[in-house]
Amino acid sequence: MAYDQNNIFAKILRQEIPCIKVYEDEHTLAFMDIMPQADGHTLVIPKYEAVTLLDLPTSELTHTIQVVQKIALALEKSLDAKGIVLMQLSGEAAGQTVPHLHFHLIPSSIHTLKNHASDMADQAQLQIFAEKIKAAL
Ligand code: AMP
Repeated sequence: MAYDQNNIFAKILRQEIPCIKVYEDEHTLAFMDIMPQADGHTLVIPKYEAVTLLDLPTSELTHTIQVVQKIALALEKSLDAKGIVLMQLSGEAAGQTVPHLHFHLIPSSIHTLKNHASDMADQAQLQIFAEKIKAAL
């Protein structure tokens, strides 16, 4: 599938729209999901223009998954997460709604997740979680 330059995460990467950032380096960005499925729901995206997992070169994937683990450790430390759901939807058929590859890190049990991309969170509340996670990085 061709990469859509106007997808919402491409706009976040170009800083055309804001995000509540928790981490950034040369190749990746991590920020709070605006419709979290649990408190602390964080997204990690590669800056590389990949729609799905299948589009990301291995070298980029290796770095991205290391950042995923780094954020997971920060979630465990800052939010006392006992378990973390790592979710990655590749393709519309899987339920992917934003066509830029991203990894969901959700401090929760799979049995108690809120609905996917459903309810907008309070921005001030997201900012508080982001500050806690950043402090644990
Ligand atoms: P997926 O359905 O796997 O593509 O997930 C897309 C995720 O992006 C959902 O969990 C949405 O809540 C989240 N999302 C959509 N727009 C934004 C945004 N502007 N900032 C942060 N998260 C977003």
